[in-house]
Amino acid sequence: MTRSITKKDISRLDEQDPLASRRGQFHLPADTIYLDGNSLGLMSYATQQRVADTTTTQWGEHLITSWNRHNWIQLPQQVGNKIGRLIGVADGQVVCCDSISVNLFKVLAAALQLQPGRNQILSTVDNFPTDLYMVQGLEQLLGASRCHLVMVEESELANSISEKTAAVLATEVNFRTGRRLDLQALTATAQLHGALMIADLAHSAGVMPVELDNWQVDFAIGCTYKYLNGGPGAPAFVYAAKRHHRALQQPLCGWMGHVRPFDFSPHYEAADDMTQFLSGTPPVLSMCAVDAALEAFDGVSLAEVRSKSIQLSELFHSLIEQHGLSNELHLISPTDPVTRGSQLSYRHEHAYGICQALIEAGVIADFRAPDYLRFGFAPLYTSYADVWDAAGVLKDVLASKAHLDPRWQQRNTVT
Ligand SMILES: *Cc1c(COP(=O)(O)O)cnc(C)c1O
Repeated sequence: MTRSITKKDISRLDEQDPLASRRGQFHLPADTIYLDGNSLGLMSYATQQRVADTTTTQWGEHLITSWNRHNWIQLPQQVGNKIGRLIGVADGQVVCCDSISVNLFKVLAAALQLQPGRNQILSTVDNFPTDLYMVQGLEQLLGASRCHLVMVEESELANSISEKTAAVLATEVNFRTGRRLDLQALTATAQLHGALMIADLAHSAGVMPVELDNWQVDFAIGCTYKYLNGGPGAPAFVYAAKRHHRALQQPLCGWMGHVRPFDFSPHYEAADDMTQFLSGTPPVLSMCAVDAALEAFDGVSLAEVRSKSIQLSELFHSLIEQHGLSNELHLISPTDPVTRGSQLSYRHEHAYGICQALIEAGVIADFRAPDYLRFGFAPLYTSYADVWDAAGVLKDVLASKAHLDPRWQQRNTVT
């Protein structure tokens, strides 16, 4: 760093920010700096209004006629297509439903079915645990001869793909470290060995350009409550490349995935498109919330979002250095922003206490066991001034030792 960053630099960055006006579309609680959009995105006013309208008018007044009148029945496909546009996917290849965990189960089973003679699901040992658990559950159900989880270090992933690999299951951005894998290269390597690529986009969708069609990714899953701002527990999404639609079979055969659900036939016949990934009745209120939340992306360039995400995170780390905190807070995220998602993670012996002291001072970040402090940067509503202020509060917390308060000895259920 050649010279100190000043408050004036920050004002200039905010003035020149092409995304600055998006912030007004979201509700930000008073006196709060929110650096946790990587866990739960903010509520947009469009979402708040849409949920109110859906309950008051659609459900309240129009009751069951709303399935047709307000097209509730098409929400999984309609919202799926909107999400598809944010991850480089042509229409008809994404539906919005269930959770990542449940969608992953469907995708894993479908991938294994497409790969007779191969039983290995190759993933990384520090993948998000639910991804690994879903493979373990399927392994128990099908037996290891049909499904076997192989876990390797992230750096060994590409080298470990072999003729036994049915599918590679990789999360593009590591939830702990923020490391970003090269999905395009990984997909090419997987397919060179005849393996399928399953990508988890939980920490990618809505915060960086993703090109699933171009990269020829086979399957993907992701959630909508992080950078897509769909709200707590909002339904997830699932993508299957069109080339697989005819051959694939997923095992959670519910009536919503039937080719003609309202025939009420006793025999299951899967729809031959993405609809087959649906199982039960869509959670209409949550799905309307996601649908409205996606309006915040109208006319937004994801390249611009990515560029701001990098500038926000680079600024944060520069301020940590400027405040002399980098000896105490050990950056475990890659220093090269190209190989990083939209978060910075630091290790500190008292990470939990720091996180709680920050929250008390109005800066919301999060803690991940055993000793990681995560700061997420959501470019649609985070300003450069937020980053400046948050770094200042962090400096004050450490200087005053507020993080050593005995109240933080006891951890909350959800961390
Ligand atoms: C947040 C997250 C999940 C969450 O899965 P749900 O089933 O939707 O709760 C899964 N995988 C990754 C990589 C995540 O970051």
